Amino acid sequence: MMMKAAVLDQAQQPMAIKNVADPSVGVNDVLIKVRACGVCHTDLHIVEGLLGGLGIDPFPLIMGHEIVGEVAQIGVGVTHLKPGDRVGAYWSFGCGHCRYCASGKEQICTGNHGYAGITQNGGYAEYFTVDADYAIPLPDEMDFVDAAPFLCAGLTMYSGFKNAGLRPGQRAALLGIGGLGHMAIPIAKALGAEVIAITSTEAKQSVAKELGAHHTINATGAEAGKKLREMGGADVVLSTTLNTEAITGAMQGLVPQGTMVLTALTADPLPIIPIQLLFAEQRVIGSLVGSRLDFQELMKLAVQNNIRPMTETYALDHANLAHERLREGKVRYRAVLTPN
Ligand SMILES: [Zn+2]
Ligand SMILES: [Zn+2]
Repeated sequence: MMMKAAVLDQAQQPMAIKNVADPSVGVNDVLIKVRACGVCHTDLHIVEGLLGGLGIDPFPLIMGHEIVGEVAQIGVGVTHLKPGDRVGAYWSFGCGHCRYCASGKEQICTGNHGYAGITQNGGYAEYFTVDADYAIPLPDEMDFVDAAPFLCAGLTMYSGFKNAGLRPGQRAALLGIGGLGHMAIPIAKALGAEVIAITSTEAKQSVAKELGAHHTINATGAEAGKKLREMGGADVVLSTTLNTEAITGAMQGLVPQGTMVLTALTADPLPIIPIQLLFAEQRVIGSLVGSRLDFQELMKLAVQNNIRPMTETYALDHANLAHERLREGKVRYRAVLTPN
């Protein structure tokens, strides 16, 4: 059987929309009929050549790691799912037995078995196969297009706040309102935090308010940190930006014992002044995606608090257009492909 897919044959070229063989279904796998797949900034980095720089050559590659759909077929060893079930595919495959996997942190597994849509084929296709242990049932209340962005964008935000130890009543400041950041506002609010959105455009300031931010700051760099401090500071500052000047600036708005959370993929060095950090007992942490457990918790939180991403949908045929608009910063705020 053949299926339609958006295939990246090599970095630095457009994807080719073509027919390829259906993915095979192993004993413990489920075949998912992809109903929605989000487009992540990481996908643009892959097109730009990110993987070559890391010495990985997965080409030709079907990208896409925010995959949801219906189970179309199950392997003979699968007993907990059946055709027709609505699932999301968790995409960072752990070894299953190291200390990180054993503690439910497969995203930082030291023997990682790959990432769907990054080191192996993903969801820019009509069908996708995954180990059934990584297919997570979706709540009935969550439709496919809304669910997809939770698998990377939403999960990264939720887990970032969780790793920072954000507690109800604390203040969370968010740096950057885009595909990830726009989901962080309602998530932080649902976690009981007072939310401050830091952005450098008036348009995004009003979006942040629409999304439920209690306060907004329209500034960047040191100015943003100063304004945040004047407002009383934040217990957690979560950054989704690649701009290190914006990060170090916003960090100045942390309260003592506050935590700066970094979630954007950049290799640029970040200047840190130890004396400032130690006198205030502050922390700077990295946070990667989230776990399967985090995703289950997040789905519950999203249903209870009616959290949904803002999306633009594209047919699979228009995958390149979605990339183009994302590259130009025009997507409001998550592009989602709908292959079926
Ligand atoms: Zn992603
Ligand atoms: Zn492991």
